[in-house]
Amino acid sequence: MAEAAGRSGRDPSLVSLVAVSKTHPPEVIRNAASLGITVFGENRVQEAERKIAELPVKDLGLEFRLIGHLQSNKAKLVPGLFQWVESIDSVKVARALSTRFSEADLTCEVLLQLNSSGEQSKSGFESTDALLAAAREIVALPALHVRGVMTIGPFVSDTEAIRRAFMQTRECFDRLQQRVGSPSVDTLSMGMTDDFEIAIEEGSTEVRIGSALFGGRGSYA
Ligand SMILES: *Cc1c(COP(=O)(O)O)cnc(C)c1O
Repeated sequence: MAEAAGRSGRDPSLVSLVAVSKTHPPEVIRNAASLGITVFGENRVQEAERKIAELPVKDLGLEFRLIGHLQSNKAKLVPGLFQWVESIDSVKVARALSTRFSEADLTCEVLLQLNSSGEQSKSGFESTDALLAAAREIVALPALHVRGVMTIGPFVSDTEAIRRAFMQTRECFDRLQQRVGSPSVDTLSMGMTDDFEIAIEEGSTEVRIGSALFGGRGSYA
């Protein structure tokens, strides 16, 4: 991460790490926490719920971020588990989330997900214009703080295609910052194990790394 930041003349301390613990058991999170990693990404609400129940979250100072698609009917499970939801892909789910956080007297930091690869199988807003239109409504929701944009790069070997997707997402992030105001919109979440260096070169402020830290897919579900 530091090398990639250095190559593009960026301050390495401006790029943070979300350790993606999905499919791995709570012990893996404990071990990572003992090495100083405190921010974890999970992609399924119920898997995270069971895992978090087994961890001394407060004592270890852990923070969890939801990075997978959220259905509105599961929004009620999110307060108390996740401090961030990085995968907002509709106004509907944002509204449901805001209602549930308000009821719990909590607030939630959110990222709006852009489908920068155009792949049908991926969630996220279809275009920057669609994302910005939704943002206009989402920023008005009382319990949510819009912090930026998240994307998953295309799963291809063509690094230029990956770079283009990240450049497009960076542009979307810049436009969101102009619309909403830059002190509060400060997070551009892009980059995973196979493409985090390109993402950092293109301006990512947060990478989400799973397999490079924890090995391949675990069996915890
Ligand atoms: C699994 C996952 C990651 C981490 O992927 P790795 O390639 O294992 O680093 C990052 N972001 C999202 C949304 C994921 O689902």
